[in-house]
Amino acid sequence: MKVGFPNNPRKEITDEIKWIADNGFNFIDLFLEPDKGELGKFNVKEIKKHIDYYGLDWVGHTPWYLPIGSAVKKLRVCAVEIIKEYLEAFMEMGGNHVAIHSNWPTSLFSEDEGLKFQTESIQSILDFASETGVKIMLEPIGTVHDHADNLDKLLELNEGLYFLADIGHLNIYGREPVEYLRRYKNKLLHVHLHDNNGVDDLHLPIGSGNIDWDYLISVLKSFYDGTITLEVFTNDKEYVLYSKEQLLEKWYGNNFKK
Ligand SMILES: [Zn+2]
Repeated sequence: MKVGFPNNPRKEITDEIKWIADNGFNFIDLFLEPDKGELGKFNVKEIKKHIDYYGLDWVGHTPWYLPIGSAVKKLRVCAVEIIKEYLEAFMEMGGNHVAIHSNWPTSLFSEDEGLKFQTESIQSILDFASETGVKIMLEPIGTVHDHADNLDKLLELNEGLYFLADIGHLNIYGREPVEYLRRYKNKLLHVHLHDNNGVDDLHLPIGSGNIDWDYLISVLKSFYDGTITLEVFTNDKEYVLYSKEQLLEKWYGNNFKK
């Protein structure tokens, strides 16, 4: 199992890479999005050079708010074009796993229509990515629509699409994250960890919300040994490092190597 941390896209990417490496993470979850990671504002070779210098691995993450499921076709097409441009940047870095996000139209449109809009977009993204070997992972963003019936359909309609389990997002609307882990374990390619109160998507440190982490990690590690990003968003990074210790202790027991 490898533990990573994302760069804050409002901060200089190279500074973020250094902090992530200096604090013992195995990889960076590279958030390429505005403002510091906006298309045209970063130098791919420079980023890759820094990542390699510190010996980090990386996974890619596109902006979570791109409207690939909008009822407005022009917006969907434009969102897909933007994702393809980000994919080109990620490909230039050597190809890897890249996250896209579920996106639902407004309530005037049915969930089936939302599935159709997203599938149209995802198909175009998958076609583009398949030529390059980049694996596309779908991260449900935790809206009322991101329930298992819809996720089943999205994954069935889009063969070749992998699942990114964001545990915080899977913990709201009365959902049970462990059920989702088990349900999609064969398509699971990456995990985001953070805590919340079961109501809001708070990105809290591990142990400060209502998630039973001992149980969740014991289940997850029974079939998964891949990359896990701590998506803990706090000003005081001590909470991030505490979360990392908690994860490693729960994963490896008390004798883990710090
Ligand atoms: Zn996430």
